[in-house]
Amino acid sequence: MSSTDAITNIAATNANDPEAAGTRIEICRTRIKQSQPALNALISIDAPTSERAANGALAGVPIVHKDLFCTRGQTTTAGSKMLANFTAPYDATVVSRLEAAGAVTLGKANMDEFAMGSSNETSYFGAVANPWDQSRVPGGSSGGSAAAVAAGLAPAATGTDTGGSIRQPAALCGVTGIKPTYGRVSRFGMIAFASSLDQAGCFARSAADCAPLLQTMAGTDANDSTVADEPVADYAGSLNGDIAGLTIGLPRQYFAAGVETETATALNAAIRELEALGAHVVDVDMPYTDLALSTYYIIAPAEASSNLARYDGVRYGHRCADPADLTDLYERSRAEGFGPEVQRRILTGTYVLSAGYYDAYYRKAQRTRRLIADDFSRAFESVDLLATPATPGPAFELGSQIDDPTTMYANDVFTLPASLAGVPAMSVPAGFSGHLPVGLQMIAPWFAEARLLNAGHAYQQATDWHTRQPPGFEWSQ
Ligand code: GLN
Repeated sequence: MSSTDAITNIAATNANDPEAAGTRIEICRTRIKQSQPALNALISIDAPTSERAANGALAGVPIVHKDLFCTRGQTTTAGSKMLANFTAPYDATVVSRLEAAGAVTLGKANMDEFAMGSSNETSYFGAVANPWDQSRVPGGSSGGSAAAVAAGLAPAATGTDTGGSIRQPAALCGVTGIKPTYGRVSRFGMIAFASSLDQAGCFARSAADCAPLLQTMAGTDANDSTVADEPVADYAGSLNGDIAGLTIGLPRQYFAAGVETETATALNAAIRELEALGAHVVDVDMPYTDLALSTYYIIAPAEASSNLARYDGVRYGHRCADPADLTDLYERSRAEGFGPEVQRRILTGTYVLSAGYYDAYYRKAQRTRRLIADDFSRAFESVDLLATPATPGPAFELGSQIDDPTTMYANDVFTLPASLAGVPAMSVPAGFSGHLPVGLQMIAPWFAEARLLNAGHAYQQATDWHTRQPPGFEWSQ
């Protein structure tokens, strides 16, 4: 990359200096264009418009949006052939709020098709390469967003997390990513995958940079009645970097098995660091943890099969050529428009919801979901936060798991429980396994995002993992 100017800190934005902000926007546009052949992090790049002079909290902050968020007048593809030519008639609430605060949208980030995946390889628009090693995946489904922040293409990106799609790519790309409490952020204009799990969140270099982003995104919305009424805390104002006296639980089940050795070594050092900052670290039991994988992979496909029924070739989206009749129109439009992973989810979902299997699968999964949520309620009676691995290991090779769905699904083992319970969770860079970043997941009680961000901030005041830059994509701090 040619540019080495300071571009990545949101805090570095100088709202009083529109010239500096304009320069940064141009630098990011150039880096996006230069990186596309190697990384493929974006699906579409916005044409430069005359940037509005704004005075908001995010004045002049360049941002890319996961292509699951509707952007008015721009294509919004969900990473799918089905919506490859879809132009959204309105902005998602997340997009309009960030722009109203002064953020400047530079483009739409690549993603797994309809947010289904853990490697960004299910995208109709091609895989994204991990900036740390271009033979490896960036994680998914918000892989383009995470890669964009890691490679210094933008200081901020939006993402969505249904079962880990912010935290897992944040971990594999060495950036900070937060999934807030279910219902904290509006889903209006965010294309639905599994509605009881879908949640918008964000990526940035640091927890301190995530705070103003989340602050802007969160809160009630007349267009989404499912947003929680709970007042939005002052996330940025709560960043005092003090975690002395906080009790942090390590769920035994997350550390028991299946974590790659170097990842475990990095995470142990991270936990010692939290202790050095004054946190009390204790073991906790979350006995239903190992049910999360099977529970999620019943509930999420069930909801997806229902949500994706709307893509029928009639109203919008891909339509097959010369249908013989209505049934042929439905069948071929859907067979042509959806890729293999999406079709697999629809088939699984309709199966577990069918009359003969509903009780055996879907109803049972709803019950185990409750047990998993109860694990969190019980744990949070005695601890303020949980710390866990974000992923079992670092970024894997492109192509190595895409033909083996159950192996791919196992990547989500540590992120799914918090999704099923609806609690907020974040991944922060916490060292390396070889040349590849490792993520520490921290999980907080419902609506305790301020505590979560402050813990991340405290850790990042004491460590510099979040400032590390992938070779070939450096910039000055
Ligand atoms: N990897 C998970 C899945 O494929 C999670 C995806 C997500 O959070 N959107 O369902």
